[in-house]
Amino acid sequence: MFDVSKSLLQTLQLKKLNTQNIELFVKRDDLIDEYVSGNKWRKLKYNVEQAKTLKKSGILTFGGAYSNHLVATAAACQKSGLRAIGIVRGDELNAHSNSILRQCADFGMALQFVSRLDYAARNEKSYHEELNVQFPNYLIVPEGGANYYGMIGCQEILKETANDFDYVVVAQGTTTTSIGLALALPEKTTLIVVPVLKAFDALAEMKTLLGYTGFELSMIEDVLSKVHVLSEYHFGGYGKYTDELLDFMEQVYTETKLPLDPIYSGKALFALQDWAVKNAIHDKRILFIHTGGIQGGKTIEKKEGRQYS
Ligand SMILES: *Cc1c(COP(=O)(O)O)cnc(C)c1O
Repeated sequence: MFDVSKSLLQTLQLKKLNTQNIELFVKRDDLIDEYVSGNKWRKLKYNVEQAKTLKKSGILTFGGAYSNHLVATAAACQKSGLRAIGIVRGDELNAHSNSILRQCADFGMALQFVSRLDYAARNEKSYHEELNVQFPNYLIVPEGGANYYGMIGCQEILKETANDFDYVVVAQGTTTTSIGLALALPEKTTLIVVPVLKAFDALAEMKTLLGYTGFELSMIEDVLSKVHVLSEYHFGGYGKYTDELLDFMEQVYTETKLPLDPIYSGKALFALQDWAVKNAIHDKRILFIHTGGIQGGKTIEKKEGRQYS
C-alpha cells in the first residue's frame, strides 16, 4: 500500500514570486492517497511495518475530534490487515459526531472516547500500561504519529526530489514531518517551518522530540541550525483562519489549480509567499511540501476566526 508514485514534483507559478525570479516547486504528497493525508501516510509507513514485524494485532493511537491522523491510521490499518483503536479526546463525542469520526468507524477503527483529563495522560507510561492491559498486543503510536518511525518515514520525502533547493518549506503541527525533512536536508538548504499553533516554540518542540529519540545534543543543535521558523502565520491558532487566508487559497486555486487546506498547507504557502515578498527573496529555488489535509471533502465557510469543522 505504501506507494509514492502519485506524489509528483510540480512547478508552481505564483505571480508575486515570478517577479522575484523564484523558481517554486511543490511536492504533491497530498496526492498519495484519498484518505491518508500525505504526511500522515509518511509517518505511518514504518509504524505499520513495525506492527507487522512484531506480529501485533494492530495499532492504537490518539487524536482530537478532527484528527487527520486518526482517519489515516484507520485507513492504513484496514489496508494492511491490522486492527486499529483510536483514543479520542472528548467523552461527549461519539462515532457519529462528525465526518472524520464516522470515517474512522467506517474503516473499522474501534473508538474510545475519553475525558480531556484522561486524554492529557496520552504520553504517560502508566496510561500506556493500562491500555496494554485493556488492549493487549497493540503497537501504541503517539498522537500525530510523532515518533521515531514517523520521522524516518518523512525523511524519504526529500529522497524523491532533486538536491539543489535553497529552501524547503513545510507546515508544522507535532514537528515530526519537519524533523524528518531536517534530517534529510542537503548541506546548502535551509528548512523553513510554519507552525499552525499559536505561541508554539517550534525549535524547542523539535529539540524535545529529537531528544526522545536518543539523538545527541550536538547533533540536535546541528540539525536545528538549518531550520528557520516563520511563527506569525498561525492565523489565530489551530483550526482558525481568516477571510484573507481563504481568499489566498482561492486565488492559488484559480491561478494554478493547486488545492490547499486552511489548517496546514494553506497557512504554509501563504507564509512562504508573504515572507519571500517582504524579505525581497530573489533568484532562489524553493520546494514547498504539500502535506495534504484536503481529503474527505470537508467544507469551509468564510467568517473571521471560525472553527474549522
Ligand atoms: C498533521 C498535518 C501536518 C502536521 O505535521 P506534523 O508532522 O505533525 O508537524 C501538516 N500538514 C497536514 C496536512 C497535516 O494533516
